[in-house]
Amino acid sequence: MPQSPKQPKARRIMRPADAHAAQIDAELNQMLKPDSAVEANRLCLACGLCCNGSIFSRVGIEKREVEAIAAIVPVWEQESGDVAFSQPCPAWTEGKCGLYAVRPGRCASYICKLQGLVMNGAVSGAAGEKIVDAAVKQAAALRDRVAAYTGKEPQALNLRQFHKEFHPKAMKKAKSGELTLMEQTLVRECYLFLKLQDRYFSETSLIKQYAFILQQIDYFANGEG
Ligand code: SF4
Ligand code: SF4
Repeated sequence: MPQSPKQPKARRIMRPADAHAAQIDAELNQMLKPDSAVEANRLCLACGLCCNGSIFSRVGIEKREVEAIAAIVPVWEQESGDVAFSQPCPAWTEGKCGLYAVRPGRCASYICKLQGLVMNGAVSGAAGEKIVDAAVKQAAALRDRVAAYTGKEPQALNLRQFHKEFHPKAMKKAKSGELTLMEQTLVRECYLFLKLQDRYFSETSLIKQYAFILQQIDYFANGEG
């Protein structure tokens, strides 16, 4: 007797309301995990973006912290008279803070957006790790690009400082369609990293500046209207 063809199993289609409920369940599960604070803290081991000059150009320190920190890291006085040290922080090595016991209050109290999202349950620890991985890779790609453009060592770069000098120059050249291909690629790499930075780590108005430059590049590439 011929066998009747196997019927494919009916697949349950997830309706938008079900998907929303599932997302709320996942967020509640994550929020009610007592170790979400530990998960958030562990992200730093594979990240370091707030220590290695990718996001910030310097760290301000209190007067009472100067002696302990100056013994390990070169410090300097800002125009305001406040003391700071430059990033990349020399104390950041192999995913660890070499100043952990005496690290400045600003470092100890800093919580980036992603850590906050993991702590409050909006993002799982595993998803947080994937975001860190993507951001670290994008920062490395940008470092390589900036290093090729400036002739500096990728690891010694202070990306924040680079933006200060590069984006006004790029903006000016973009307005007259004079950006070289290398500069156009660099603008794209800056924009990609800043998107990740703005969404998951620290807000930045630079994203709008680079978006405008990209729009100018497109304007000159695809006809001037
Ligand atoms: S950017 Fe956030 S996750 Fe990365 S090292 Fe700093 S605090 Fe940790
Ligand atoms: S002192 Fe530690 S936490 Fe602060 S920037 Fe340096 S490596 Fe990062």
